[in-house]
Amino acid sequence: MNNKKGPKRSLMFYYVAAILMIIVFNSFIAPMFFSPQVKEISYGNFLQMVDEGQAAKIEITENKIALVGKDDGDKIIYVTGRVEDPELVNRLVRNKVEFSQVIPKEPSPIVNFFTNWVLPIFIFFALGQLFMRYMSKRMGGGNAMSFGKSNAKVYAEAQIDKSFADVAGQDEAKEALKELVDFLHKPEKYKEIGAKMPKGALLVGPPGTGKTLLAKALAGEAKVPFFSISGSEFVEMFVGMGAARVRDLFKQAQEKAPCIVFIDEIDAIGQKRNSGGQIGGNDEREQTLNQLLSEMDGFDSSKGVVILAATNRPETLDKALLRPGRFDRRVPVELPDLKGREEILKVHSKDVKMTDEIDFNAIARATSGASGAELANIINEAALRAVKLGRTLVIQSDLEESVEVVIAGYQRKGAVIAPKEKKVIAYHEIGHALVAAKQSNSAPVHKITIIPRTSGALGYTMQVAEEETVLLTKEEAFNKITTITGGRSAEEVIFNSITSGASNDIEQATRMARAMVTRLGMSKEFDMMALETLNNPYLGGDTSILCSAETAAKIDVEVLAIIKAAHAKARRILEENTDKLHELAAFLLEKETITGVEFMEILNAEPRVKEELVADVDASNIENNN
Ligand code: ADP
Ligand code: MG
Ligand code: ZN
Repeated sequence: MNNKKGPKRSLMFYYVAAILMIIVFNSFIAPMFFSPQVKEISYGNFLQMVDEGQAAKIEITENKIALVGKDDGDKIIYVTGRVEDPELVNRLVRNKVEFSQVIPKEPSPIVNFFTNWVLPIFIFFALGQLFMRYMSKRMGGGNAMSFGKSNAKVYAEAQIDKSFADVAGQDEAKEALKELVDFLHKPEKYKEIGAKMPKGALLVGPPGTGKTLLAKALAGEAKVPFFSISGSEFVEMFVGMGAARVRDLFKQAQEKAPCIVFIDEIDAIGQKRNSGGQIGGNDEREQTLNQLLSEMDGFDSSKGVVILAATNRPETLDKALLRPGRFDRRVPVELPDLKGREEILKVHSKDVKMTDEIDFNAIARATSGASGAELANIINEAALRAVKLGRTLVIQSDLEESVEVVIAGYQRKGAVIAPKEKKVIAYHEIGHALVAAKQSNSAPVHKITIIPRTSGALGYTMQVAEEETVLLTKEEAFNKITTITGGRSAEEVIFNSITSGASNDIEQATRMARAMVTRLGMSKEFDMMALETLNNPYLGGDTSILCSAETAAKIDVEVLAIIKAAHAKARRILEENTDKLHELAAFLLEKETITGVEFMEILNAEPRVKEELVADVDASNIENNN
């Protein structure tokens, strides 16, 4: 991709390079080729050469004597140190040698001035320039000396290789963006009816859902100049530069209208002003934001400049940015649904060689909650795995394994887990699966494994919902917590002791139960009262508490009650199905990984005799020992 840079690489740089080259050439390289060789000799040898008539010419300097020979004078110059020798002149005259005393030359004042003043200053500035350039490169490109240049990359059509076809799913977002393009191309249509187009649109959504990709695709489709800049690029090295850059960006944009300006990660400059009263450091960003606000007010949208911005933290943006007349249109770019995931997988496997019988739907179903970026990664991991295993085509199992890699990390093949611990892990995982299967509202088990992963998971139970739902009922939420407590419950029921293996489960169960009480209104005590709020709906699940300390204490009581009830229910289910628990755990211990189908087969089969089961577990135990 091409981009317009600020000023050209300064001429200064070339001057310095040229001068350095001349100096190096004159003082090192040229003498090597063009000058005669210099040979040091002793004073005795020198006198001998003079006496034998070998000397053609002699030059005497302050502390050296140079002798040019008669035969090899153009190849070798003999040099010796000057010794106090009153006889020398007589000897030279006697031998008829031409000789002269060289008077050291005073360099001319001009040269003197040049070498002592001009050159050092010159080099000083040149080094400064280089340093500046280096610094500004490290700080995100551009030339630090070009104060207030916007640094926006300008893309012309044909320079962008992305189009809407590269963005799978996200149909609503694409629709909204197409409308903007339509406006740029046919403004009369809108003017006629008296409609004003929005000045700006804000793409909001979790990371990796394709916001930047959508903007790039828009640039490829719009056939108008496209300015792209990241919010952090505004705020750089010098105070006051951010505002100047905004000014420059809008000036350029208006010259090039109709065009699109895209500000990625706008939260870097668009955060709420005066929030929290931090000390120092905020002025710069505020100035930049103020400039942006005033520029957006200042220009006439009928000119055909559309401002597009993207963020995954819309809640932190200054309200002034979001009011009508600025980014008045919000384009949600959410995590893909089942169909969206399948399409994204397909788009990314376009250039990957795969067998014909790939079931993308199955992969899409197993990746609920994954972002577009993660799905792209899954395809790539699968291709890498195929290469590693020496295949030329990607097959279904590559994809399945790479889903687990992206979710849970790589298999830790070398990890040594004591057989006794392996047994605990097997019961723990089967505990989850069995509790899930015995609750009608739980998603069926897809896969259970006790192969440890680099993420630290010692094993896990993958559940894949039959169909995707957007609502979570209170019963489903409670059943989920019950399933999560199923692992620890199995340890209790079988071994009558507990391990640290449930730490992650404990966290998950608590988060879920807390959400039920504080945000989902699923407790009797608090009815529909909001007690907590999500800080960043798109980034993780941090929450802020909204209630008094007394209420917070009551929340804890309520959360504990839910978890205790779920835990008790899980134990009950397992106690009623101990036989199946033994049987399934033995099977898992033997196979290490079992599918949901195998799991259901054993679960629905006729029960076997108890002694046989215990023998099974012991047998696999011994196997593992060997
Ligand atoms: P963000 O929303 O964080 O800006 P990006 O646009 O940078 O996300 O997406 C990162 C990568 O994820 C893209 O380069 C692309 O490969 C992939 N991706 C994300 N969403 C989609 C999608 N809807 N269709 C195809 N690829 C996608
Ligand atoms: Mg992005
Ligand atoms: Zn667990």
